[in-house]
Amino acid sequence: MKEGLSTRCVHAGEPHDPHGSPHAPLYTTTTFKFPSTAALLDVVEGRQAGALYTRYGLNPTIQALEEKLASTEGAEAALAFASGMAAESALFLAYGRKGIVCLGDAYGGTLELLASQLPQLGIPTHLLLGSELDRLSAILKQGAGLVFFETPTNPALELFDIAEIAELAHAHGAFVAVDNTFASPVNQNPLSLGADFVVHSATKYLGGHSDLTSGALMGRRDLLMPVWGWRKNLGQTIAPEVAAQLARSLRTLTVRVERQNETAMKIAEAMQAHSGIERVLYPGLPDFPGHELACRQMKGFGGMLTIEVKGGGEAATRVADALKLFALAPSLGGVESLVTQPCTTTHHGLAPEERARRGISDAMLRLSVGLEDADDLIADLHQALA
Ligand code: PLP
Repeated sequence: MKEGLSTRCVHAGEPHDPHGSPHAPLYTTTTFKFPSTAALLDVVEGRQAGALYTRYGLNPTIQALEEKLASTEGAEAALAFASGMAAESALFLAYGRKGIVCLGDAYGGTLELLASQLPQLGIPTHLLLGSELDRLSAILKQGAGLVFFETPTNPALELFDIAEIAELAHAHGAFVAVDNTFASPVNQNPLSLGADFVVHSATKYLGGHSDLTSGALMGRRDLLMPVWGWRKNLGQTIAPEVAAQLARSLRTLTVRVERQNETAMKIAEAMQAHSGIERVLYPGLPDFPGHELACRQMKGFGGMLTIEVKGGGEAATRVADALKLFALAPSLGGVESLVTQPCTTTHHGLAPEERARRGISDAMLRLSVGLEDADDLIADLHQALA
């Protein structure tokens, strides 16, 4: 991997096209024909790479996308999915049977899958808060096979030390999967820090325009094979049309995220100086508890930040409702800035006591910083806070 990330985002996974298209063409075809049974068997039995059937992911548009996705994380291989949840669930089914440990806060759908759905299949799951990390060793000793976490987390932007957790998990023979959705491959590469798998909701920064739903899993080719089997038979493969759209988005990933990093830092500093704000949670701020770790394991601090409004939950709701440029919507990572109040959206399903235990206050507003001018976004926050 000699080339820089921007070059890889543009050029990786763009096969030679006989008609001179600089981009991998879109094959909507569901099945592909062969000149002979021998040639068909070469692909079916894995001796020859090639197209076969789209649900298997053996479609040139999907294969080209997967090469580009793998290169963004410096991975040997990648699998593209119909959603981030599809990527996570296939991973959990392939590697979670001996038990899954989830560290810290995670996306609500992930928590629901782990807390109530996978246990129905007999899969043991353990949800540990960041403050309970000392219990991880004992759970791994009991035989849990997969440690999963987001870093930074949603919405408190808590950071976990990927290298340290990978060392501990590997000492017990467990795999480590990091949900890198919040950071994006521009700001953090968990595989280079010792993780075995990286998962993305590609719906967010990778897609980047709030106009496609997809997921990605990156790692060693041999480790991805069992996940490929689950994806194939659960029918979770990305559609070729979405694959082409996602490849298009990946070509601009670095310029988008680098600008989002810069703007988020400016907003974090402006909010820290504002008298109506109790607290700003952003890994780039020197006084943020995870700042030192962020400097060690991240290359940029990201486009996500959380502010805590003085005056509690009702005051925060008034600010969210008064914002004009920041749209009130629960997703993230797009070109347009979004605001969400976790207690009304991502963490609405949790009892107030559980939110408090997780350090999520009603006064929190999570901001996903888009590509508007920083000054305009800051002015919008100032008028809403006023
Ligand atoms: N991981 C994170 C961190 C998320 O924020 C989300 C969705 O919000 C997911 C996974 C699930 O992704 P998707 O909505 O693409 O299934």
